Order: sequence, then structure tokens, then C-alpha cells
Amino acid sequence: MKLHNFNSGPSILPQPVLTQAAEAVLNYNNTGLSLLEIGHRTAWFQEILQEAKDSVKQLMELDDSYEILFLHGGATTQFMQVPMNLLDTHATAAYCDHGVWGNKAWKEASLFGKVKVVADSSDQQYRYINKGFDIPSDAAYLHLTSNNTVEGTQWHNFPETAVPLVADMSSDIFSRPANYNRFSLIYAGAQKNMGAAGVNLVVVKKEILGKVARTIPTIMNYQKHIEAGSLMNTPPVFAVYVSMLTLRWIIQEGGLDAMGIRNQKKSSLLYDTIDANPLFDAPVAVEDRSQMNAVFFLKDHALEAPFLDLCKKEGMIGVKGYRTVGGIRVSMYNALPIESVTSFCDLLHFFTQKHG
Ligand SMILES: *Cc1c(COP(=O)(O)O)cnc(C)c1O
Repeated sequence: MKLHNFNSGPSILPQPVLTQAAEAVLNYNNTGLSLLEIGHRTAWFQEILQEAKDSVKQLMELDDSYEILFLHGGATTQFMQVPMNLLDTHATAAYCDHGVWGNKAWKEASLFGKVKVVADSSDQQYRYINKGFDIPSDAAYLHLTSNNTVEGTQWHNFPETAVPLVADMSSDIFSRPANYNRFSLIYAGAQKNMGAAGVNLVVVKKEILGKVARTIPTIMNYQKHIEAGSLMNTPPVFAVYVSMLTLRWIIQEGGLDAMGIRNQKKSSLLYDTIDANPLFDAPVAVEDRSQMNAVFFLKDHALEAPFLDLCKKEGMIGVKGYRTVGGIRVSMYNALPIESVTSFCDLLHFFTQKHG
């Protein structure tokens, strides 16, 4: 049976990336060595790292005022590392709380300085993104989560502000074109749209660094990582390689314009199908719906278990909603083919004919 991988993360990767990564584990580029047994300071790995960095800059159209880092720890480490590097003890950072991840991010930041939550949609179960809220002009930065993986909302217009913008883009990185040069710092754990778990991408504008008074532990210090060219210590070599292959694939497929068009098509097809279906309800504010993670519910809760059973039987993987949210969540990252969405929509019709 053909499987359709709607996992929320780690999640689907392009088939050619998996094939090349598998080959590299046995024999990297006909060197006779596994990628897992070569040094991170060899010319081989230097090339991999350089291509990965160049690809990020090319895709996001960033100039040399930005540095690209590949760091350990997952996005959760960035919840701490961002304020450690950017927020002085007596300064204030502005945070948007639009779900599980944004909530964790501001709580972590409050360990380092003052935090003002300037936007919060928990009054409606995080089913929308606040607009037109005030941002204190003296805030060290404004932090937002570009795509709320758990709740299924996504920023479609980033706030206009003179305050430096910081974004957790873990679940929609490289999914669409945008003015990425409006951000001072962007981070993303790789395992949703970019590669294998175990590495973080950090894109940082150099001018925002070096301004806090605290002593930053070396391994947490962005400036020290920049000086060391992402090679302060052994980087997650394999995870960086998989990210590089995925970035190469995105470029070959036509870059962020092509990804944006595909993701728009896939998500419209799914949301249109849900909206037209009498059994299902997608309660997220229409203008804030995520192109990456669609969250929806069966109006009759008793039908949820049979629906999930049918999904399982038909090879639809990873569609159960997050444990605190419930319902159904369908993740449609870059590598998910439109055929998987079409098959899922067919399944919705089939289920509705049986139970409607
Ligand atoms: C998955 C996710 C995280 C957590 O990533 P880890 O790599 O597990 O630390 C943080 N933010 C967002 C938006 C996510 O989707």
C-alpha cells in the first residue's frame, strides 16, 4: 500500500534527498568512506557546509550583513539562546503568544530579561493571529512564530515595526517567498521542512549582536559561532548534510516561488474540501490558516475514532491532532506531493458518503 506521510515533525523529506543521504552513509561521493566517518574539518565537509550556507542566502535573498549558522539543540534551545544573546537583564522583549511554541519561547525569555506579551490569542484557543497590536518602541526585539505547527495558524503579513524582528520559522521555513531581510534573526529546527532532526538553522544580522552586558557561555554565543564558521565544536555532520541536500532540491525545483505555489495549491485543495464537507469543521480564522498544518475537527466527536481508523487503514500517516488540541492535523510540508492531498480528500468524501 502506498503511504501518505502527513507527520508533523520529523516529517516527509524529498525522495532524492533520502536516496543520496542513504548512499552517503555507505560511501560518500565515492571516497570509500562513510559520511559518518569523515572529520568535520575536512575539505569534504567544508564544501557541504558552504553549499548549505550559500543556498540559504540564495533562497532567502540575503546580503552579507547576515550570517548563517548550523547549530545543535533544536528550536527549543533557541528559546533560551535568543534572549541570552539579545536581551539584557533590565531590557524588555516583546513576544507574540499564538500557541504552544510561542508560549514556551516567551516563558524561557523571561528567565533572562523582561518580557511583554504584546499579542495573545489564547482567548479563542489560539485559533487566530492578532493584528494591529502595539509594540513598545524600546523593545529589544519582537518575537513571533511564523507558523503555529500545533494550532494551524500562520502569519501571512508580518508586522510593520522598527523593532528588530525575530522569528521561529521551524515549521514553514523555505515554504514561500517573503521579505526575509526584514528579520534580524530567524531560526528553525531542521526536522519539519528542511532535513533531519539534530540541527538548527540560525540566520542572524550581525549588527544586532554584541549589545548585551551579560557573559554568554561560549557554546551559546552567536558571535563566537560566527567567528568559528559554525565549527566551534563538532557540528551534527549528517544532519547538516541532509539539510544541504534538501536546500539543493528546493533550488532545483524552482526555489521559494515554486514552493509557495505548490503549498498554496495543496492547502487550498484541502481547506476547500473540508469547508464543503458537512461532517468536518476547520475553526481557524480563514485569513490566518496555515498552509503547512491544517487543523480540523469532526463535528460529531463520536466519528473521530472511526475516521482515524480509516486513515490508518488507508495509509494516511500522522493525522491525529496534537495531544492538547485533539481533532485532525494534516501537515503538508514542501516534500509532500499533491497526490497525497488528493488521496486524503478522496478519503474525506468516502467517509462522508458512509457516515453523512
Ligand atoms: C517543532 C517546533 C519547535 C520545537 O522544535 P525542537 O527541535 O523539538 O526543539 C519549536 N517551534 C516550532 C514552531 C515548532 O514547530
